[in-house]
Amino acid sequence: MQIDVAAERKEILARYRALIKACKRRLEKGDKEMIRKAFEVAVEYHKEMRRKSGEPYIYHPIAVATICAEEIGLGATAIVCALLHDTVEDTDLTLDDIKGLFGPKIAQIIDGLTKISGVIDNTASIQAENFRKVLLTMAEDVRVILIKLADRLHNMRTLEHMKRDKQVKIASETLYMYAPLAHRLGLNTIKTELEDLGLKYTDEHSYLEIANKLIETEPERKKFIQKFIEPLKEILQEQGFNFKIYGRPKSIFSIFNKIKNKGVPFEEIYDLFAIRIVIDAPLEQEKSDCWKVYSIITDFYHPSPERLRDWISTPKSNSYESLHTTVMGPEGKWVEVQIRSLRMDELAEKGYAAHWKYKESAAEKENKLEEWLKKIREMLDNPDANALEFIDDFKLNLFSDEIFVFTPKGDMKTLPSGATALDFAFDIHTKIGEQCIGAKVNHKLVPLSYELKSGDQAEILTSGKQTPKEDWLHYVITARAKSKIKNALKEQRKKVADTGREILEKKFYKSKVDFTLQNVKDFCKYLKLPTSQELFYRAALGNVDVKEIKEFIKWKENPKKIVPRKTDSQKIEQLVTNARGGNDMLVIGDDMQELDYKLSPCCNPIPGDDVFGFVTVSEGIKIHRVNCPNAIKLLSNYAYRVVKAKWMNEHLISFLAGIKIIGSDELGIVNNLTKVISNENNINMRSITFDTDDGLFEGTIMVYVHDTKHLNHLIDNLKKVKGVNGVVRIDEKKN
Ligand code: MN
Repeated sequence: MQIDVAAERKEILARYRALIKACKRRLEKGDKEMIRKAFEVAVEYHKEMRRKSGEPYIYHPIAVATICAEEIGLGATAIVCALLHDTVEDTDLTLDDIKGLFGPKIAQIIDGLTKISGVIDNTASIQAENFRKVLLTMAEDVRVILIKLADRLHNMRTLEHMKRDKQVKIASETLYMYAPLAHRLGLNTIKTELEDLGLKYTDEHSYLEIANKLIETEPERKKFIQKFIEPLKEILQEQGFNFKIYGRPKSIFSIFNKIKNKGVPFEEIYDLFAIRIVIDAPLEQEKSDCWKVYSIITDFYHPSPERLRDWISTPKSNSYESLHTTVMGPEGKWVEVQIRSLRMDELAEKGYAAHWKYKESAAEKENKLEEWLKKIREMLDNPDANALEFIDDFKLNLFSDEIFVFTPKGDMKTLPSGATALDFAFDIHTKIGEQCIGAKVNHKLVPLSYELKSGDQAEILTSGKQTPKEDWLHYVITARAKSKIKNALKEQRKKVADTGREILEKKFYKSKVDFTLQNVKDFCKYLKLPTSQELFYRAALGNVDVKEIKEFIKWKENPKKIVPRKTDSQKIEQLVTNARGGNDMLVIGDDMQELDYKLSPCCNPIPGDDVFGFVTVSEGIKIHRVNCPNAIKLLSNYAYRVVKAKWMNEHLISFLAGIKIIGSDELGIVNNLTKVISNENNINMRSITFDTDDGLFEGTIMVYVHDTKHLNHLIDNLKKVKGVNGVVRIDEKKN
C-alpha cells in the first residue's frame, strides 16, 4: 500500500488541533505548551508504528487524550499522560526519560498505566491478579484508571481490526472489569458504550437482533414519547421552568440482560426507554424544584407507588443523584420518568471527573467516591488474601447494590446488600464487631447473623467476654468484617501456637532432637502439616506425643523406607467413619459443663445423631453432626482436630431441635399442631412461628427433645395433622 506521508502528517495535526479544542476550556497557563511537548514526543517515538488497521499509531494516543478531555472532562496532566500512555511500554522511551521531561507526577501515572497494560489471559487467576493490579494503581491516582478507561474505550471502538480470538478476550475483559469500574466511578455514558460493544463482540447474534428491533420500533416509540411529553412541556413552561425533556433509550446490553434474566421477549419489555427531565436550577433550589416537577407529572399521569426512587435525598455511593418515578402513560403503558438538575445529569453521565467541577459546591457528596477509594485501599492492605477470593469480595462489596442502615442515633451507614448485623458492627468499629453478641433491629432482638434491610435501625449488643469465632466468617459478607475476623482468629491462633511451641520444644528435648527450624520443618513434612503454626497448634492441643517424634527420627534417618503418616490425606469417607466411632472416644452426656464442649449451632446435634467433636481455638470442643454442612470442610482440612464422639443416653437431657412444617392453611391447623406437641411427653417448646400466604401454611417450631427417637416420634405425629403436607427437621432457625 502506498502511503501518502504529507497527507498523513496533515491529518495528525488536524486531530491534534481537535484535541486542543476539546480541552480548551480547562487549560491553564503553560498547559498548552506541555500538551504540545507530549504530543511531539509521542509522534516521534511512535513514528514507525502502525495500528492493526494500518493507520499511524499516533492516532490512538490522540484519540485516547480526546476521550479524556471531551468525554471524561479531565485536565492537562491527564491529557499529557494519555498522549504518552503507550510510549514506555511500546517504544524506547523510558520512565526516567518521562520523569526528566515531564516531572515525577506524570511519570508516576504513566508507570501505573504501563503496569496494568496488556491483555489478560483467560484463566481466572491471572484475570483476578490483573484486576488487583488495576485497583492498586487506581488507589494511587484515580486518573490512571480514568485514562485506562479512555484507552479501553478507543480500543473497543476500533476492535473490528483485531483477530477474532483477541476480540473475544478484550471484550470479555471489558465486561468483566472495565464496565463495572466505569459504573462505579459514575461514568455512565462510557459504561454503557463499553457494555454494548462488549456484547457486540461476545454475542454478536443477540446484539444485532436487539439493535435491529430497536431500529424497527423506533418510529412508533418516537410517536409515543411525543404524545407523552407534549402536555407536560406546556405545563412546565407555564410554571417557568428552564428545562429539557426527552426520551432516552435503554442500552442494548441492559435490554439483553432483561431478556436473559427475566425471560421476557423483546416485545414485552415496557421500559425500552425512559423520559428524562433535566432542569436548570440553582444548587440550593434543585431538590425542591425536582419535587415540584414530580408533583406536576403525577398530577397528569398516575404514579406507581412502589416505583418511586429518591436518589436525591440519599445519593447512590457512586454519587448518582436523580428522582425516578414510573407513571401510567397513554395507551395504558408504564413509563419511567427521571427528574434531575443539570448538575446531577452531568455527574451521572461523566461521573468522577465532573466532581472536580462541582468540588466546592458539592464537597460533601464527592466524599462518597473518596470513601469508596479508601475502602479499596483498605482491601488492598490485606496482603495475604487469595487473589480470586479478593475479586469475589471486591465484586460483592464494591459493585453490588447497597442498603442504608441507621444507627440508634440516626446516623446512616451504607452497606452492600446481604450485609448482616455483624457486618454492621464491624462497620461501626472493630472493637464493637469483635465483641458483638447480637443486635436489636427496629427494637427487636436478632442474632448476629441477621440480614439487614434498607431502612433498618440497628443497635449492636456487645459483651466484654465475647471474642471472634470461626463460624463468624460464614455470617459476614463485607471484606472489612472478614479481614478483621481473620486477623483476630490469627491472633488467637498465634497465642495458642506460642504455647504449643514451648510444649513442642520440651518434647523435642526429651526425645533428644534439636529444636531447630529445619527439624520443625521436617517434622511438619513428616506429619503433612501445611505450616509450623499448625504443628505448634497441634502440640498445644496435646496431640503430639513422644512416640510420634521417635517415629519421625526413624523416618529422618531413612526416609525411603518408612512412609510418613497419612493422617491428613485420608479420604473423607474414611474420616467420617473414623469420626463416627471406635475406641477412646468422647462420650457426650450430662456432664456437659465439666467437659469443655458445646453443641454446634450450625447443625444442632441431638442424641442419636451421628456426631464428631471438633477442637476449636477458643470454644473448647464443638459437637457437629456428621452430615453437617460444614463437616466435609472440617474433616478434610483439620482432621487432626477431630475427636470421635458418641452419645451416652442414660439420663434424660434436653436438646434444641428445629422442625419445619408445610401444608395448606386449614381452619384450626395451628391449634391442632400445638395440641400434638403438648401431648407429647417431656417436650418443651421454645419458639413457634407460623406464616400463611395465599392458602399456604409454613411453620417453624423449636423444641427441646431428648434424642432422635423422641424427635422422630414427634415428627410422625405432626405429619398426621390434617392439612400438613410435610414435616422436616431443620439445621438452624433461619430468621
Ligand atoms: Mn493504548
